[in-house]
Amino acid sequence: MDSKIKSIAVLGAGTMGAGIAALAADKDCKVLLLDINEEAAQKGKDSMISERTPMLSDISKINNVEIGTFDKDFELIKNYDWICEVVVEKLDIKRQIFEKIEQYRKDGSIVSSNTSGIPLRDITDNMPDRLLSDVCITHFFNPVKVMKLCELIPGEKTLPEVINNLGSFLTNIMGKGVVNGKDTVNFIGNRIGCFLILKGLHEGSKARNLGLSQEEIDGLMSRPVGLPPTGLYGLIDLIGLDVMHSVGKNLAINLPKDDMGIPYVNLPNEEQNMFDSGQLGRKTGGGFYRIQKLENGDKKKEVFDLSKSIWRDAEKVSIEGDLNLILEESVKGNYVWDVMGSTLIYAASLVPEIADDIVNIDRAMRWGFAWSKGPYEMLDEIGPKKFINKCIEKNINIPKMLDILLESGNDSFYKDSSKYLTIDGNYTDILN
Ligand code: NAD
Repeated sequence: MDSKIKSIAVLGAGTMGAGIAALAADKDCKVLLLDINEEAAQKGKDSMISERTPMLSDISKINNVEIGTFDKDFELIKNYDWICEVVVEKLDIKRQIFEKIEQYRKDGSIVSSNTSGIPLRDITDNMPDRLLSDVCITHFFNPVKVMKLCELIPGEKTLPEVINNLGSFLTNIMGKGVVNGKDTVNFIGNRIGCFLILKGLHEGSKARNLGLSQEEIDGLMSRPVGLPPTGLYGLIDLIGLDVMHSVGKNLAINLPKDDMGIPYVNLPNEEQNMFDSGQLGRKTGGGFYRIQKLENGDKKKEVFDLSKSIWRDAEKVSIEGDLNLILEESVKGNYVWDVMGSTLIYAASLVPEIADDIVNIDRAMRWGFAWSKGPYEMLDEIGPKKFINKCIEKNINIPKMLDILLESGNDSFYKDSSKYLTIDGNYTDILN
């Protein structure tokens, strides 16, 4: 398919910048990759082919990538159709880069930020209308080559054709699953996914006192409920406890004051101690888990026992059951209800705040967090009426979308696998 976007300038050659640049180069776009110095830009370019699974499907596509530095080569961005900012997650640094972009870019070029959760309005506050009409968020997930999701978020003044052009480029050329979100903190995937993680940690402290081990918690928060095998603690080891710490700080500033996530923005004491001592996850050689090499060359997995602050051998656990655990009255069932149940309630309260419909929310969780089903698909599997009854039993307010479903007289969010329930309580066709 012919696209109006043929070239992309990627500003920041770290993990995400290199990933985005590689994907574009692989699709035969002309790519400019800039960073603070030559070494950083070259390292980003090298990473496209040096990893065990190269980011490029055809190594010769590396020739589509030109590198440079912010100081010497910024003006080259005037030759590019889309300028994608992918520097560190710091508001002041992103704003400085945006001011420079506006100074050099050509008329009609599209500008986006790959921020994980800083609102676009803060990045572009007080910037000229010329920029505001061409700007948006393109939030790719890590690793860019593997994760299907790209959240596309317009600003208040973004022209519809900017979103249409970029949306069709991301879908048809870059091969991404585009989800349309709104300019709210952490957008869709991270808003719901980080709620689950932070709530999971807080409920984990309570559940450990009731006898659940961390391995059992991970066993529950994986296959049985349709989440990836890393579970809860294993997932944080992958992301980094430092990243979760800063996600919490960003949420504390930007969540609406009555948001369900507010009580969980700070790490529980045990996890805060881990953060303070630099025990952050895989990147520091261990977080909640670590792999120890034995003298005979074998490896063993250890878990950091949060209740005792000591490392011990990790137990292999296998948990039976499925999403219906959420309705079970037991220590395990209660944990699943308190974490996954709350997350489903949270997701059911966020339309239209973070997305106009349930399809965008379900896709974000499947494509960005590798959930086997999105929250509304999970509610359909459990049975929305059973779920509502449990909310009533527990004296929990019925969240908006479940209330709309109840009022509509229907008993599922999806119908005939081709229609979904809108906020008006009617079914409409799922597009693309
Ligand atoms: P990274 O640390 O790998 O790369 C950041 C880049 O910013 C580096 O190349 C660095 O040289 C550059 N940089 C550092 N200081 C700078 C400065 N003062 N001015 C300009 N550039 C500077 O980070 P990343 O993981 O690639 O993240 C980049 C962006 O993508 C962030 O906004 C992050 O929140 C977002 N993001 C990250 C992930 C992820 O999983 N890593 C996922 C989605 C979005």
